[in-house]
Amino acid sequence: SHIKKYFPIKGGIFKHTIGHVKAVDDVSLSIKKGETLGLVGESGSGKSTLGRVLLRLLEPTEGEVIFEGKDISHLNNRKLRAYRKHMQIVFQDPFASLNSKMSVGELIEEPLLVQTSVSKPERKQMSVELLEKVGLRANDRAKYPHEFSGGQRQRISIARALALNPKFIICDEPVSALDVSIQAQVLNLMADLQEEYHLTYLFIAHDLSVVKHISDRVAVMYLGRIAELAPKEQLYQNPLHPYTKALLSSVPSTNVREKREKIKLSGDLPSPANPPSGCVFRTRCPMAHDRCISEIPALSEMEKGHFVACHLYE
Ligand code: SF4
Ligand code: MG
Repeated sequence: SHIKKYFPIKGGIFKHTIGHVKAVDDVSLSIKKGETLGLVGESGSGKSTLGRVLLRLLEPTEGEVIFEGKDISHLNNRKLRAYRKHMQIVFQDPFASLNSKMSVGELIEEPLLVQTSVSKPERKQMSVELLEKVGLRANDRAKYPHEFSGGQRQRISIARALALNPKFIICDEPVSALDVSIQAQVLNLMADLQEEYHLTYLFIAHDLSVVKHISDRVAVMYLGRIAELAPKEQLYQNPLHPYTKALLSSVPSTNVREKREKIKLSGDLPSPANPPSGCVFRTRCPMAHDRCISEIPALSEMEKGHFVACHLYE
C-alpha cells in the first residue's frame, strides 16, 4: 500500500540528482488469493514498474509490499530467496527473456536446479510434465527457443514460470506481441492453469480488451496513479473515470449493456518526471475544471469495490 517508486534523474558534470521520475506515485491495491487483477495503462503509466516492485525485483521508494501477511518491502536478496519461488513473471517478449543458447529442457529445469534439490531424473520428468501441461511435447525438450513460434515460445516461458509451483504470477503483456488468433489460445491456457494450480495473477496489458475475459477486477493506471479500480463487470458496463471511458471507447463493444460514450484523448502522455499538478490526467481530460489544477483527486469508493479518482464524483 501507498507504494511509490521514484527513479532519480542524474544530470550535470557531477551527476547530481536533479529530479525524479515518479513511475509509481502512491498506489495502494490488494490482490486476493486466486484472483486475476488486470492492470491496464499506456506505456509509461508505471504498470510494469509497479509489477516489479510487487515482486520485489525493485525496492519501493516508499510504501509497503505485503506478501501473505509479511512485509517484504525492504528485505535483502538473501531473505527474499524464500519468497522468490512463490512469485514469477512472464514477460511480453519470450525471445528476449529466454536464453537462446539453452535447450527448452534446460530452460525449464534451470529454476529447479538453482532453487531446489530435486534430482536430475526428477527434473527431467517434471519438465516433460510441464511441457505437456502447456500444450507442447516431451521431445521438444531437446529443441531451442528459435525453433518455435512466438506463441509456442510464450508457452515455454509459462512452463518455466510454473516449474517452482508458484502462488503469484505477474503476466507483463504476455500476449501483446502475438497475433490475435494466438492471443486467445495463450489466454485460455493461462486461465486453465490458474484454475488447476490455484494461481493468483496480476495481468498487465495496455488495452482493456485483452484483460476483459481473464480478469476478476481491473485497475486502470495513468501516469503512476490508479485512476479507477473495479470488479470487471462494473468497469466495463459503468466506467466512471474519463480516462477509462476514453480507453473503452476504442474497444469494440459486443454487449449492449455496456455504455460507450465516445471520448477522444488529445495530446500525449505527459512526462512522469514532470507530472501535471492536481489531477495528473487534467491535461488530456475533456471534463477538467478549476479544482483539477490544484487538488489531487483521492481514490474513493463509489459503489462496493468500485473506486475512482476524479473530482466529478466527490
Ligand atoms: Fe478530469 Fe478533473 Fe476528473 Fe481529473 S479530476 S479526471 S481532470 S474531471
Ligand atoms: Mg511495460
